[in-house]
Amino acid sequence: MSDCCSKSCSSNEVHETHRCPVNGKVYKGVSEKTILHHINEPWQWEDKQQNYYFCDDPECDVVYFGQDNSVIKKSELRTIVGVKEESDAFPICYCFGLSANQAAKNPEAKAFVVQKTKEHVCECEARNPSGRCCLKDFPAP
Ligand SMILES: [Zn+2]
Repeated sequence: MSDCCSKSCSSNEVHETHRCPVNGKVYKGVSEKTILHHINEPWQWEDKQQNYYFCDDPECDVVYFGQDNSVIKKSELRTIVGVKEESDAFPICYCFGLSANQAAKNPEAKAFVVQKTKEHVCECEARNPSGRCCLKDFPAP
């Protein structure tokens, strides 16, 4: 499910990767725009003009980290990151307000998101804390 966004979404993906300083796994970049849409009090955030990355590990408290290994934790965001939560009641699709639970129960919900993504109606870069299309986060049917 990695092909969903490459052609259809308009988000500016950052393609470099970096290791999360806490769990040591490699993750892809996010734009500064994405961070500003989810961090608490974004006016207080000091953007260090470096690359930032998104950690989606539910076991890891870090959401964003910088090239300099500085971290932004879950508690520093105003958005609940569904893919990092145990419960499936939290959103996975932030453009259309869909939880993992709803997605599992409604195959047509995924079809809707696929369709709207193709139509460029999604706003993943700003609305999804990962900065990327949510389709890869949908539960397997
Ligand atoms: Zn991590």
